[in-house]
This record gives sequence, structure tokens and C-alpha cells, in this order.
Amino acid sequence: MDLPTNILCCPMCLEGLSIAKGADDSTTAVCTVCERRYPVTEGIANFLPNPIPSPKGRGQRLMESEWRVKRYESKWWRGGTLFKRYTGVTLDEEIALVKRIDAAEAADTVLDLACGPGIYTRAFAQDSLGRTVIGVDVSEPMLRRAVDKAAALDLANITFIHGDACALPLQDGSVDVANCCEALHLFTDVQAVLAELGRVVKPGGRFSASLAWVGRTPWSHIKAIFDGRFWRMHFFRREEIEALLDEAGFEPTVHHAHGIWMIVGGVRRS
Ligand SMILES: [Zn+2]
Repeated sequence: MDLPTNILCCPMCLEGLSIAKGADDSTTAVCTVCERRYPVTEGIANFLPNPIPSPKGRGQRLMESEWRVKRYESKWWRGGTLFKRYTGVTLDEEIALVKRIDAAEAADTVLDLACGPGIYTRAFAQDSLGRTVIGVDVSEPMLRRAVDKAAALDLANITFIHGDACALPLQDGSVDVANCCEALHLFTDVQAVLAELGRVVKPGGRFSASLAWVGRTPWSHIKAIFDGRFWRMHFFRREEIEALLDEAGFEPTVHHAHGIWMIVGGVRRS
């Protein structure tokens, strides 16, 4: 795997990286300043800091389950009509909307944060094979699935990274677009994640996300309370996510709100 060292950096000190090749043709990125080493194993670059700066929530730990990984894109979850009942959009509709929010046709570099099995990562990569797409997730089983699915499509323009959302191995202002679908409600420190996204998206760049919304109905409020208590999921209020995006340096816009689902965008201020 060729790592895009023009946009990657050490997640601990944000300095540049050099590439060391092993005798067995293995690849390791090495920080040019602190000399920390980040090996690439079976198509996944391990940039996970040790210790991990942000603790995983219960919902994030669920994404480590092989059972969950295998079914994530199936008709029983993201790929099915059941999900549309909750959210008002099919997966394909959400992907199309996200691309519009991101003005994706003009993007050379795209970050897909919390990429999971690579649903959006592949969609961005397939649209432009000359584009660099970075998929980051904290779940190794999800990343293994993502690597297999991208390989089946011969997509060589994706770099999959095992990393932490609060310590991205990306240089300041290095990406045109950052997408983070179905994940903001799982993070234990959303403010820190959005601040990190504000750091890596270049001025004028775009952000998109789908997330759990507290909704307008008694049912959605009950679900927010239940999932909040049981899964430690956070259901956002509209003005809350707008304020968080604003604070992170993005001009926020809400593009979709239905059931328990909201799709938001942001333009990075100069
Ligand atoms: Zn370093």
C-alpha cells in the first residue's frame, strides 16, 4: 500500500512521516520528529495512539462485533426498508444527498470518518479514481470488512486507517471533504471530534454527517431516552448540532430531518 504522505502526519505530534520498507515488502510510516512507528498490516495503517485519547462508548464497542459487522449493510440494517422507517431515507438516497452537500465532484481529498465497512468510502472512491480517499475507524473488524469490499472493486485510491477520531493522522487543512455518517451520536466527546474535523478540513471545504436526532414525536423522544440510557447514544437537538458545528468553524445547514434522523452539512470558514 502506498500511503499518501502529502496529507498524512503523525497523530501525536502532527509532524511529517517518512516511509520505511521492510525486507518482506512491509510498509511502516515513521514520524520524522518523534520517531513513532505506524505499521501497515493487511491493508490497514495503524495510526491508533497508545493510549487511545477518547474512551469508546457502548455503541462504538458494539461495532467491534463480527455479527454486527457482517450485517451492517444488510437489509436488516442500513441496506433495508426498516432503516428508512426510522430515518426517512434509504441508504442510496442518503449517499446521494451527502455527495450533494459535499459538492463532492470537485473534491480531490476526502476523509470518511467512522467509515465502518466502507459504504461511503467506496462511494466517494468510485466516483473519481484519481481522488484520494481516507477511511478512518476505531473498529478493526469493520476495517477488515472495508478492505475486503474495496479490494473486490479494485479500488486502489483508498487508504484505510485504524485511528482515533480525536487524533487524526492528517495535516491541518489537508482534506476538501470530511464525511461522518451514523457515528456522531456514538462518540463520547463530540466537541473534540468536531474540533479535529475543523482542523483537517481546508477553508471552504465541506463537512457532512447523518446522526441521531431527538425528533418531534413522543415515540422519537422515548427512543432517545431508551437508546441514550442503554446504548449511551446521544440524540441531538437541531440547535445543539448547529451550535457545535459553528463552534468547530463550520457554517452549518440542516438538509434532512425525519423520525430520529438528521443529515447536516457545514462549510469550513476561511
Ligand atoms: Zn510524531
